[in-house]
Amino acid sequence: MFLRRLKALSRSLAFRLTLWYAGIFALSSFLAFVFFYYVIIDVLREQTDDNLRRQLSAFSGIMQVEGITGVQQVAAMDALSGGDKKRLIRLLSRFGTEFTAAGTDYWQNVGVNADAIRGLLTTGKPVIETVVLPERRDSLRIIYGMIGPGVIMQLGHSLAGEIRLITAFQGLFLTTIGLMFLLAAVIGWFLARRALSGVGGIAAAARKISGGDLETRAPVSGRRDEIDQLAGTLNHMLDRIQTLIRGISEMSDNIAHDLKSPVTRIRGLAEITLTTDPSGEAYEIMAASTIEECDRLLEMINAMLFISRAEAGVHDIRPARVDLNALVGDALRLFETTAADKQLRLDFEAAPAAAVKGDARMLQRMIANLLDNAIRYTPAGGRVRVVIAPSSDQGVRIDFSDTGIGISGDDQDRIFERFFRCDPSRTESGSGLGLSLARAVARAHGGDVTVQSKPGEGSTFSVILPAKSGPS
Ligand code: ADP
Repeated sequence: MFLRRLKALSRSLAFRLTLWYAGIFALSSFLAFVFFYYVIIDVLREQTDDNLRRQLSAFSGIMQVEGITGVQQVAAMDALSGGDKKRLIRLLSRFGTEFTAAGTDYWQNVGVNADAIRGLLTTGKPVIETVVLPERRDSLRIIYGMIGPGVIMQLGHSLAGEIRLITAFQGLFLTTIGLMFLLAAVIGWFLARRALSGVGGIAAAARKISGGDLETRAPVSGRRDEIDQLAGTLNHMLDRIQTLIRGISEMSDNIAHDLKSPVTRIRGLAEITLTTDPSGEAYEIMAASTIEECDRLLEMINAMLFISRAEAGVHDIRPARVDLNALVGDALRLFETTAADKQLRLDFEAAPAAAVKGDARMLQRMIANLLDNAIRYTPAGGRVRVVIAPSSDQGVRIDFSDTGIGISGDDQDRIFERFFRCDPSRTESGSGLGLSLARAVARAHGGDVTVQSKPGEGSTFSVILPAKSGPS
C-alpha cells in the first residue's frame, strides 16, 4: 500500500518538478562552488609565490650587505622564529652542494631538485615548484633563486594553512549545498503543489462528468492564472455541450411527437374502417386520409432534411435569375382566398426591380411559409402587408408585416429553432418547422431572416437577400 503510494507519488508531476527544481538549484550551486574554489586556490598560490619572491629579494639584499655569514644568521633566526616546521632554507652552490640549511629537521624528506637548479641557471629567473607530502598531509611551495654570485637559495613555505582553509571551505560548502538542496526541494514541492492544485480539481471534475454527471463544473479558484483559464474554458465548453445535448434531446422528443401523431391517426382510421364499416366508400375515405397524412409526414421529413442540409452547408440549389416581385405576387394570389375567408386585407408594394440569383422553388417556399404564418397568426379583420425594397449593397429586402398576435421577446429568440411553437399559437395547426426552413433558405442564399414583434400588436419578418445571392 505504502509502496504503491510512493510509486504513484514518484510518477506525479509535482514530484518531478520538485526534483528538477532542487536538482537545478544544487547543480548551479555546485558550479558556483567549483568556480570559487579555483579562484581561491589561484589567489592563495599567487600570494604565497609573491611572499617567496619578496623573501628571496630580501635575502639577496642581506647577501650584498653582509655577505653569506649574514644570510646564514638571518636564515637560522628566521627558521627558528617561524617555527622550524614552517620554513625550509638551504644555501646551495651552482652544482647543488649544500652550504648551510635551516628547517631541514622537519623537511628532511625534501631534497634539492636538480631540474629546478638547471632551469634557474639557464633562464636566470627564479623557479617555483610544489612538493606534495601526502604522509604529512602537507605541501611545500619552494622557490629556487640566485641571491649572490654562485649562491642559490632554496626557500620553502608550508601550505598547511592554505590546505586547512580549503578543507574548511569544502566542508562548509558541502553542508551548505546539502541544506540548499533540502530547502529547494521543500520550496519546490510547495510551489509545484500550489501551481498544480487546480489540475487535481479539474481532473476530478472531468472524472465525474465522464461518469455521466453533466452538471459538474471544474472548480475556479479566482486566482485568474492559467489553471483558472483552463477551468473557465472547460466550463464554457461544458455549458455549450449541455445546451446542445438539451437541444438535441428536445428536438428528438419533438420529432418523435410530431411523427407519432399522423401515424397514430392513420392507424386509428384503418382500425375503425376495418372494425366498423368495411365498405368501399369507407376504404376510399381511409385511402384519401392516409395519402393526406403521408403527404404531411413527407413534407415534414423533407423540411427537416432540407434544414439539416442547409445548416451543414450542403444543398442542391441550382441558381438562376429570380424576379422576387413576380414570386411574391404569385404567392399572394395563392393565399387570396384564405385571407378573404378570414376577412384580412392583403397589401403588396413591389419594388421597381427585385431580381436576385437563387433557387426559385426554395425562395417560393420561404415566401409561402412567411405569408402563411402572417395570415394564420392574424385574427379576422387584420391586415397583412408585403413590401419589397432595395436594400444596401444592391440587395433586396422583403418585409412581411401583420397586425396579428405578435411574439414575446423571449420567444423571438427561439422561433427559428426547429419545432419551436409559441404557446399562444398552439391552437393553430403547424409543425414548428416553417421559420427554420425560411431562415435556412435565406442563409443558403447568403442572406437571413429577422423578426421584430410586439405581443398583441403584430410582427414584421424581414428577409434580406444580397445582390449576388446564390448558394453560399
Ligand atoms: P408553425 O408551423 O408553428 O407556424 P413556424 O416555424 O412557422 O412554425 O413558426 C414558429 C412559431 O413562431 C409559431 O408556432 C408561432 O408561434 C410563431 N410565429 C411565426 N410567425 C408568426 C407571426 N407572423 N405572428 C405571430 N407568431 C408567429
